[in-house]
Amino acid sequence: MPMIIGKISENEKKVKFNVEIHCTNCGKKVPGGVQTGEGYSQTEEFKIELENFKRSYLCGICRDKKRLEKH
Ligand SMILES: [Zn+2]
Repeated sequence: MPMIIGKISENEKKVKFNVEIHCTNCGKKVPGGVQTGEGYSQTEEFKIELENFKRSYLCGICRDKKRLEKH
């Protein structure tokens, strides 16, 4: 299942991007790519969001660890 980022309007066509995403903590590769709405995928905003997403992505395990550390 691709991860959804950005905006997808109701009934809008979805576009899938096969980008490689790695957990920024453990380096684990995340399969599936990302998905966004067709309109949003054309925007500069989307490119920025995708970069930010890749830069800050944590896999489920690392996210849980981080959450535990905070408390
Ligand atoms: Zn991780």
